[in-house]
Amino acid sequence: MTFRDLNIAEPILRAVEGEGYTNPTPIQEQAIPILLRGKDLLGVAQTGTGKTAAFGIPILHHLYRGKNGQQGKRCIKALIVTPTRELAIQIGESFTAYGKFTGLRNTVIFGGVKQGKQVKVLQNGVDILVATPGRLLDLMNQGYISFRDLEFAVLDEADQMLDMGFIHDIKKIIAKLPAKRQSLFFSATMPRDIVDLSRKILGDFERVTIKPEQATAEKVEQGVYFISKKNKPKLLVHLLQERSEDSVLVFSRTKHGANKIVKKLAQAGIRSAAIHGNKSQTARQKALGDFKDGKLKVLIATDIAARGIDVEELSLVINYDLPNVSETYVHRIGRTGRANASGIALSFCDKEERPYLRDVEKLIKQQVPRMPEHQFVDEDSDISSENLGKPDSQNNRPSRNQARSGGSKYRGGRNGNRGNRNRPRRRD
Ligand code: AMP
Repeated sequence: MTFRDLNIAEPILRAVEGEGYTNPTPIQEQAIPILLRGKDLLGVAQTGTGKTAAFGIPILHHLYRGKNGQQGKRCIKALIVTPTRELAIQIGESFTAYGKFTGLRNTVIFGGVKQGKQVKVLQNGVDILVATPGRLLDLMNQGYISFRDLEFAVLDEADQMLDMGFIHDIKKIIAKLPAKRQSLFFSATMPRDIVDLSRKILGDFERVTIKPEQATAEKVEQGVYFISKKNKPKLLVHLLQERSEDSVLVFSRTKHGANKIVKKLAQAGIRSAAIHGNKSQTARQKALGDFKDGKLKVLIATDIAARGIDVEELSLVINYDLPNVSETYVHRIGRTGRANASGIALSFCDKEERPYLRDVEKLIKQQVPRMPEHQFVDEDSDISSENLGKPDSQNNRPSRNQARSGGSKYRGGRNGNRGNRNRPRRRD
């Protein structure tokens, strides 16, 4: 199937093709026809599946078709609520890209920055509003936002919203939306609370489920080092020094941990920056911008801050801590490995994290290849060669074709494929 078969309005088709997309991803193939028919949608899918275009394209299509002859000030006709600023910005960029020949205008609002500029744009009139819940509710309460003409409401990453404590804000926002609307609800997982929430939002809906396996990169090579907590910084420094040309995203479970890693790396002469919720919006955008431009090679992130980060040419992801929720592992390693370039995901696992690794392996239905015994594996780490597993003894990399368990083969498509420029150096 190609985008031409989907019968989307010509200016949108032109923009999408201009982005270098030829074939719709599975979620796009399934969701776009449902949404073009005007049905509500429950999408069980995660970032990296192409879900932004899956909802963005039909919304733009309807708004474009309905726009003819419209006069007067623009009013908000589509609302997209998403948990983090980074995701909001990325969604806004996607609407701008797919809608560039439609004349439709979008804006993005989020907290952590002064509201003045955002209010001004809203007052000038927009067709599509992308927002994080807190700032949205705040500006609604101040009377800057009217949903009188709203036709589309999208709730993105609902499970993450719940984890971040946005549930009450979400309910208050929903209560203010007109009853007659098309509603879209996306969540990577569907625990009970999320099912309940979806019932409150959706009317007569159709469901599309994209299993993680469908969303995974073809070739994310994985490996795990068994190492004591104490020696993690040394191993990290060692790996980063070996791959100093590469862009590396390091995951830390906590904000405090992320700051500590930055300090340890600085002591070893490695420049890095941390992004997490305690950093100002300006600092986060600066670090992310420098990382995307290749000026900064090492970025340390917590899961929430890293959600939705779409960095081209990210060759290596390091799980400095293993996540206690195994789906998070799949999200993390999905940051690397894209259409035509394989990526590498290495994890550090200390004694306490063993159960997390077991959960991950259960989820991805495979064993993460064990990395060879390392000079940093010390006596007090309780790790014997036996439980290190069988190393890939010829080289220090995870074996190929073992990893079909995470990542997006679609990520990065928007800016075209720039090839393998930043691949990690091969040691074999
Ligand atoms: P999302 O899941 O919306 O965050 O999308 C993940 C990445 O896939 C983004 O970088 C998009 O630009 C890219 N993408 C989305 N749809 C397609 C497609 N049909 N073909 C190629 N790349 C795509």
